[in-house]
Amino acid sequence: MISTQEALNAIFARLKPLPVETVSLRNAVGRVLAEPVTALRDQPPFASSAMDGYAVAAAAPGASFTVIGEAQAGARFDGPVGPGEAVRIFTGAPVPEGATRIVIQEDVTRDGDTIILDENLDAGPYVRPAGGDFRVGTTLDAPTKLTPAHIALLASMNVPQISVHRRAKVALISTGDELVMPGETPSKDQILSSNAHGLEAMLGGQADVRLLPIARDTLESLHAVLDLIEDADLVVTIGGASVGDHDLVAKVAQDAGLDRAFYKVAMRPGKPLMAGTLGTAVLVGLPGNPVSSMVCGRVFLRPALDVLHGLPARAARRRILPLAHDLAANGPREHYMRAKIIEIDGKDHISPFDRQDSSLQTVLASADALAIRPPRDPMRVQGEMIEWIDI
Ligand code: AMP
Ligand code: MG
Repeated sequence: MISTQEALNAIFARLKPLPVETVSLRNAVGRVLAEPVTALRDQPPFASSAMDGYAVAAAAPGASFTVIGEAQAGARFDGPVGPGEAVRIFTGAPVPEGATRIVIQEDVTRDGDTIILDENLDAGPYVRPAGGDFRVGTTLDAPTKLTPAHIALLASMNVPQISVHRRAKVALISTGDELVMPGETPSKDQILSSNAHGLEAMLGGQADVRLLPIARDTLESLHAVLDLIEDADLVVTIGGASVGDHDLVAKVAQDAGLDRAFYKVAMRPGKPLMAGTLGTAVLVGLPGNPVSSMVCGRVFLRPALDVLHGLPARAARRRILPLAHDLAANGPREHYMRAKIIEIDGKDHISPFDRQDSSLQTVLASADALAIRPPRDPMRVQGEMIEWIDI
């Protein structure tokens, strides 16, 4: 059995970034920049006021000035400000020529066109220099996964359209004679198909996800559904991946031409995981147990999507927290334990749940982290640091 990291590397090796397309800013959040973007202007484009007040050449406590005009955001005061002169100014307005600072309005007493500065002046200068945020030639590098802050920055750069990798197309296939769709009425021996919905929710923000019809546990049904993958970049089967008589996914995928990279990974939950190349797609066969499929989705599918979208090939980011309670020694597989982050004496600790059976969705739904135990990790005591990833 290979390790989780080896399995992830094998998946990464079969993926490459998807082609590039142009999108408008409003469709760009969460996408990955495919080419660097360069600013073609300075921001701010002129020295601008950071406060409402008066622009002056020099300020001294008690000094008096004649107000000679006004500068607003979008409408500058044309002309210089000389000694003894002040321009009424508002936040965002261009600072007039000759002015070096803004005296905030709270520090001023005004009488007609005359202002007198208070004895205790705020330090100022409340002038935002031209190009103080970014300059012509400032770049936003690729690849960058665009956050709302990046979108706002690109808008300020006057870049309304950008090049990004296209969104991955993901086909999700549930398998099993026992499954019915939520909303249907299950018979006595049936259960609801939940995994594809969870995975769609996990991946749908990043990729275009299609839920294919549930495949039944026959060769014909599995072949028929596999025929529907069309131009998917990532095909995900759920269930039917262990060695039971009804676990036919490996056989059908093989018949359809799967070039298998691996089968079985030393992890818990998720051992019967399979992956390979199927035509132009990468196929990942997830175990059917609901928690296994969600954990494998987090550990393998989200990083896989990142690679398709142009980001570096990287496992989920691990962080560390102290354990909230003792943990028994781990077995031979890397264990991803559903856990809650709780506060003890004002500090975050990670608290793996006692119940870790891979069918327990309520436990997964209560978890905000997966604590990771390496294979054969010895017993750990409260307070020891342990790695975790978000879920
Ligand atoms: P399998 O890998 O097909 O043997 O499935 C393992 C367990 O997961 C069985 O109890 C299945 O009923 C369950 N299971 C498989 N697929 C799903 C699904 N899409 N939603 C919910 N449970 C599933
Ligand atoms: Mg099954």
